[in-house]
Amino acid sequence: MSETPEQGPDVPEAGASAIEIRDLHKYFGRNEVLRGIDFHVEPGEVVCVIGPSGSGKSTLLRCVNLLEEPTSGTVRVAGVEITDPEVDIDAVRRRIGMVFQAFNLFPHLTALGNVTIAQRKVLRRGRAEAERTARQVLERVGLADKLASYPAQLSGGQQQRVAIARALAMGPRVMLFDEPTSALDPELVGDVLGVMRELAEEGMTMLVVTHEMSFAREVADRVVFMDDGVVVEEGPPGQVIADPRHERTRTFLSRVL
Ligand code: ADP
Ligand code: MG
Repeated sequence: MSETPEQGPDVPEAGASAIEIRDLHKYFGRNEVLRGIDFHVEPGEVVCVIGPSGSGKSTLLRCVNLLEEPTSGTVRVAGVEITDPEVDIDAVRRRIGMVFQAFNLFPHLTALGNVTIAQRKVLRRGRAEAERTARQVLERVGLADKLASYPAQLSGGQQQRVAIARALAMGPRVMLFDEPTSALDPELVGDVLGVMRELAEEGMTMLVVTHEMSFAREVADRVVFMDDGVVVEEGPPGQVIADPRHERTRTFLSRVL
């Protein structure tokens, strides 16, 4: 083992914010979708992003793991500036778990296989270690009895929990969720939110785009309201959801609550 301390652009910085976004702008052609976003997520914090459809929430999340390239501004993850061209983005991305509205599981692989494959291919873990980790995380999301099931044999809520387990298996520092329950039948939403709530209680750092206001109210440390590519207001849920300062926030909440 090398005695040299880790350094360089890919190495997390002690004491840094989990996510720090400064003056982030994103254009699609001439359409400015993010118009100067500033915010941060501290280690262990749960931040919920709410706002109308088309306000730029998904684009913001996608800029945090460079699924979209920011037009200007900086994004730091654990102190590492991921917008720096020198950075090994694959190394950074491995540290960021992402869960989408669509589960995107491999239909020909079992739950265990779906949670094992990225560990094998991306982290180059051996089969035994990858399967041991897969069992642990599938148990953590309440699917210990579904290891051998294929996606088609699982409910939407179970499939989404497999997708969460798949992200957890990579050992992320931060989990990003983009409307993880929006594609689910109403009776299945609670299971997925329950797993997310447990993750939050265990201290996972989470940035969650959601329309589930009760989840935001009960689980979030902070709520960020976005509209038209800007952060209109942010603060504790008891303030932003219960007593919003801005008319735009009030109008949005009166539609969703
Ligand atoms: P939200 O998640 O809040 O609904 P999005 O981030 O998905 O908002 O979209 C914000 C705006 O950016 C929308 O006007 C959308 O049409 C536009 N947009 C999103 N992705 C693309 C893309 N890949 N190309 C062009 N426009 C896009
Ligand atoms: Mg979206």
